Amino acid sequence: MKIAFIGLGNMGGGMAANLVGAGHAVRAFDLSDGALAKARESGCETLGSVREAVEGAEAVVSMLPNGAIVKQVFTSDVIGHAPTGAILIDCSTIDVATAREVERLAADAGYAMVDAPVSGGIAAAAAGSLTFMVGGSEQAFKRAEQVLRPMGKAVIHAGGAGAGQAAKICNNMMLGIHMIGTCEAFTMAQRLGLDPQVFYDIASVSSGQSWSVTSYCPVPGVGPDTPADHGYQGGFATALMLKDLKLAMEAAETAHVDPRMGRRAKELYEAFAAAGNGGLDFSAIIKTL
Ligand code: NAD
Repeated sequence: MKIAFIGLGNMGGGMAANLVGAGHAVRAFDLSDGALAKARESGCETLGSVREAVEGAEAVVSMLPNGAIVKQVFTSDVIGHAPTGAILIDCSTIDVATAREVERLAADAGYAMVDAPVSGGIAAAAAGSLTFMVGGSEQAFKRAEQVLRPMGKAVIHAGGAGAGQAAKICNNMMLGIHMIGTCEAFTMAQRLGLDPQVFYDIASVSSGQSWSVTSYCPVPGVGPDTPADHGYQGGFATALMLKDLKLAMEAAETAHVDPRMGRRAKELYEAFAAAGNGGLDFSAIIKTL
């Protein structure tokens, strides 16, 4: 299949390489020369603009920083330039409202489009083991699924337009809350004289269990290998967690709900990032407790 790939950064670079590995002809574009050079190394053909990349494409996949950029790229250079038979798939994490707006504009111009944000970080993007949460019609989902399959371990239809983004921010709001709770519990356990490894062994098979405890323990030397074991480098950056919590709070407002724990998690991550920790893995927030 001829696939245009827009946005070849930390995530998109690995994802595009997996599409090449699955035998697709990937026509890639990014504003960064470094990202383009890496994409060429992994077998993509690189083009000089989005419009050139989407020429003749059967699918267009994007992995971009935010909603404003997604809207600009799709409305200026994809819609009206890619063949209308191409399935449009935005994998970026963006706000639900923009996702719905871009999907409506695409549909008005005769395209099928889905939002397909991911769970899993840079390592999962490179390994082809992302989870995709897809919003769009049943028919568009089936077409997108074929394209997404080589990049993921799971491709799940979340519902109509924007439902993928809704699932993503609700999931990540829960993750932010769980991580802070995990950090508080491990800190308190230690102050109460418990060995962190013993507490891990108990909590990971008890009712306090969560992914943050069992798979991503924020205490160095406890549980499986995590960013905590590497000075909180790599992993899921605090800045990205904060981005997702801000999107969650925007969505909460439009949905007329008041997620008090989610709001508090956003405030705590905001303060942690403002203190110069935006580049550290989000589990490093244990250092502030
Ligand atoms: P990144 O900054 O590494 O990559 C984004 C790329 O988009 C960059 O290479 C940039 O040059 C390119 N770009 C920006 N504007 C462009 C334009 N107009 N045309 C073409 N290319 C353009 O970011 P990332 O970590 O790859 O994240 C991408 C998306 O994935 C974000 O929405 C992020 O929230 C989401 N995400 C990231 C992670 C993660 O762990 N990094 C995990 C899940 C989801």
